[in-house]
Amino acid sequence: MNFVAKSNDVSALIEADRAHVWHHLSQHKAYETVDPQLMVEGKGMRIWDARGKEYLDATSGGVWTVNVGYGRESIADAVRDQLVKLNYFAGAKGSAPGALFAKKLIEKMPGLSRVYYSNSGSEANEKVFKMVRQIAARHHGGKKWKILFRERDYHGTTIGVLAACGQPQRNADYGPFPDGFVEVPHCLEYRNQYPGADDYGIAAADAIEQVILREGPDTVGALCLEPITAGGGVITPPASYWPRVQEICRKYNVLLHIDEVVCGLGRTGKWFGYQQYGVQPDFVTMAKGLASGYAAISCTVTTEAVFNLFKDNAADTMSYFRDISTFGGCLAGPAAALENMRIIEEEDLLQNTEAMGQRLRGNLLALMERHAVIGDVRGCGLFYGAELVADRASKEPLAEAKVQAVVAKCMELGVIIGATNRSLPGLNNTLTLSPALISTPDDIDRITATIGEALTAVCG
Ligand code: PLP
Repeated sequence: MNFVAKSNDVSALIEADRAHVWHHLSQHKAYETVDPQLMVEGKGMRIWDARGKEYLDATSGGVWTVNVGYGRESIADAVRDQLVKLNYFAGAKGSAPGALFAKKLIEKMPGLSRVYYSNSGSEANEKVFKMVRQIAARHHGGKKWKILFRERDYHGTTIGVLAACGQPQRNADYGPFPDGFVEVPHCLEYRNQYPGADDYGIAAADAIEQVILREGPDTVGALCLEPITAGGGVITPPASYWPRVQEICRKYNVLLHIDEVVCGLGRTGKWFGYQQYGVQPDFVTMAKGLASGYAAISCTVTTEAVFNLFKDNAADTMSYFRDISTFGGCLAGPAAALENMRIIEEEDLLQNTEAMGQRLRGNLLALMERHAVIGDVRGCGLFYGAELVADRASKEPLAEAKVQAVVAKCMELGVIIGATNRSLPGLNNTLTLSPALISTPDDIDRITATIGEALTAVCG
């Protein structure tokens, strides 16, 4: 580590933070007695805080982002070179890195052909909602304007996407929201909503069809789903779920929008999470791992058929997509994303993710045998969740304070892990793991051994 903390520098940093920074997702009361933790340097899988303590990061930057690890000089160089050459130009003009990256991305996404740039996952999702509304207005006589989303899924933080939020603790108090967003049930088999169903995946998908029929198929324009629900509990759907979902969308002419903000760019061991399930989406959105956090960039990707609905039309001068993202024109984004993709390919990180994911799964299942508090283990690639319960038979969620104590104990032991969103009973009891795609067997073993130690310390 290059950073050498001088004690007065650290105190000044902490003081500045305490006085002026409003942290994301934080109850600030806590910082009255505990120092805010400031991260200052990272390399590979490791990160150091301002006091010089080293951690193994099993969260890829807290929220599933730094897929290729910290301290990648080649990405920093690519960004620097691009910024010196041309940092920015937006509006109707394109750019060299934008064109090159779009071509590269589309090579990995058969059936899709058009890339629209913006800055965050929220914005990428909101673009889809606007496209769906515009298609409804100009091609369906104002019908097919509703957008379905799923219980427990999350699509971002702005008022528009919060209207499509399946996690009540995220959108409570922030309404009223725009009309036309309708929730469908989640597909978490562990919290069995369809007792006695022959096939849980089919039952959960058919529940979507019921919502379409209830709302009226001619009113429903799109269905927006995470391929694997992330913050809502790392929910891997049963194998039969996705093919049925696709069938239902085709039957009712509902556009399928897959939110790959977390799963995209290798997290599950394939380029995109939906490719685990063999579905063909109409829209795919991505952000976090797209440039591994080295620049802000998001993409909304769609088909030529959707793109053609917005083509210039002499008789309709309003037919084009009347949208812009000012910083969707900052060229650091595609420059970083291009180098990020090159690294994933050249270092064979999809294959590593698959292999290390198998190891992680095996280790977590072994932990489950020793710790009754683990009720369920779910995931794919380097994206796993362990749901903690007070009692395996009743599946009563473990109290939030204990889940947080496990996370804190891991931190104390030098490993950063995550937990699902806080403050809502039944949604806050899953430990989440998403180490970088460069993880080694030793990293994986240390992560799970530390969780075992923390579970023993907190739950006995
Ligand atoms: N979609 C999913 C599945 C997410 O998990 C998130 C953020 O966690 C978003 C969208 C929103 O992305 P952003 O915070 O970049 O707006």
